[in-house]
Amino acid sequence: MPTTSTISRRRFLGTTAGAGLAGAGLAGQAPQVVPPAGGPAPDLVLVNGRIHTMDGRNTVANTVTIRNNRFLAVGDAPPSGATPPGTQVIDLRGRTVVPGLIDSHLHGLDTADRPGYHVLEVESATSIREVQDVLAAHRVTVPEGRWLTAIGAAHPTLWAERRFPTLKELDAAVPDRPVLLYQGFYGPAATNTLGKKFFDAADAAPLLHPDARRVQVSEAGAIGASSGTTGGPSTNTLYLLRRLQTFEDKTRNALRTMAYSTSLGLTAWLDKSTIYALGPLHPRQGSANVDPYRSREAWNAVHNEGRMTIRVQMDFTAFAERDDNAMLKEYLKNALPYFGDDMLRTGGIGEWPAPAAEVEQTRAAQRLVAQARWRCDNDAANLEALTRLVEQLEEVNRDVGITSLRWNVNLLGTGVGWVTADSLDRLQALGCSIQLSSNNWVNSTSPNVVAGHAYRTINRHPIHKSLFSNATHISPLNPWLHLSYVVTGVNSYGQQVNPGEHLTREEALRLRTCESSWHLGMENRLGAIEPGRLADLAVLDRDYFSVPDVEIKKIRSVLTVVDGRIVHEAAGIRGG
Ligand SMILES: [Zn+2]
Repeated sequence: MPTTSTISRRRFLGTTAGAGLAGAGLAGQAPQVVPPAGGPAPDLVLVNGRIHTMDGRNTVANTVTIRNNRFLAVGDAPPSGATPPGTQVIDLRGRTVVPGLIDSHLHGLDTADRPGYHVLEVESATSIREVQDVLAAHRVTVPEGRWLTAIGAAHPTLWAERRFPTLKELDAAVPDRPVLLYQGFYGPAATNTLGKKFFDAADAAPLLHPDARRVQVSEAGAIGASSGTTGGPSTNTLYLLRRLQTFEDKTRNALRTMAYSTSLGLTAWLDKSTIYALGPLHPRQGSANVDPYRSREAWNAVHNEGRMTIRVQMDFTAFAERDDNAMLKEYLKNALPYFGDDMLRTGGIGEWPAPAAEVEQTRAAQRLVAQARWRCDNDAANLEALTRLVEQLEEVNRDVGITSLRWNVNLLGTGVGWVTADSLDRLQALGCSIQLSSNNWVNSTSPNVVAGHAYRTINRHPIHKSLFSNATHISPLNPWLHLSYVVTGVNSYGQQVNPGEHLTREEALRLRTCESSWHLGMENRLGAIEPGRLADLAVLDRDYFSVPDVEIKKIRSVLTVVDGRIVHEAAGIRGG
């Protein structure tokens, strides 16, 4: 690693206390991230752990030694011989260690564009009381007069009461800063007294845009949902707050999101850009409608300053265009796939090469991507769409050849039975992978719907596959919420909605670690704790493999290492 990059990363580790504190809100612990004193990074040795390596033999080791950014040795004891000066040794006292978790499909980069001091942690709350606790804990990280926001992260079906907090409940948690909770993509939303005051004043003044609507906050703090075509009360809250957003606000939210990610042991993302908005800020734009070109600048700036604490690979999407695939063509001509380094890198084309409903345009787009030799993602949410997609991909392969390009199919939708063995056989023959969503258990407004997938049946097929969150507009980023669903079939209403199709805990974790690394093109370098691989791991606060089912959702990391550096550390992990 070049010297300059090493120095700047160090500077970051010494200055992220604020972001780290934000990440610890739920646990109420302030992590202490200690910067190295200078010179080469000292070795890090973790001893007395239950280190689930996720290697091919499912080895559970006791000790792991990290040198620079890689695993040096894994076994029952540290390597013999002299210990280099400065080596940090941490006694894990029997704690469980897993490879850093990977999310192979999410929309996390958008969180930098969320206005206010964004608090993703509310998605991990289970009740309004816990939402209040999270907001109160984060209040101290937000200067007076600035907004606390949770946009996309605020999904009432995650909370026992199945509703937003009222104005009074939000005031009780945060009386002295404005608050906005907003369900992605288009609301509804909720605010407190100071927030209502701001929106009431905007309603009373001349509208700031010809297409603007009044917010009309109710006495209880409720703000109505909007339509994507006409806008409405909730999207106008975003418009009013985004007008105030600075570039510094965006980089800060990127850091806050990464701190939350590492507090959960989540260390790598394959990010799919979203249903973006071309053109200037507009009051109809929802949480996912951000500028596809400018929205990555905050992340690029954070990376240039050596401040990335998770690995991000970012795809390019061409969802919103029409007609002639003009935007896709420009990407293929002017952007580079897999450009960057192991902390921030471009990927391929995804989540869509063209609007999914436009069959002929999609067919042409797939051909363009294949000719340019890029990776390409497509979605399917039912048997008809999957059958059509497989036929399209076979046709492209006949003419252009895609078997070496690692194309991928995102399997969304609900229910079991529609992902057929025949489809999987044919996709595998094309060199394609599949990614299995697990977001419908939380999206459903009906508690009894069979959410699927047929995880157990599909997992028996040898095709490359992974589990993904589809965060952060419609689903939580927290990987433990998703793993809990996949291994229990119990939805956010506490009901069994996927009988007989669960994975074992080990199978599910494998899909979020070593199997996910294939989708990043890093299957020999990430996803397992083996000598020579990049050193990403999480020390968990409880044993994923033995805790009761209901505790899986509560798992947090007490020590997260990315690229050989400690990026998250809970208080008291070293002795005491
Ligand atoms: Zn998605």
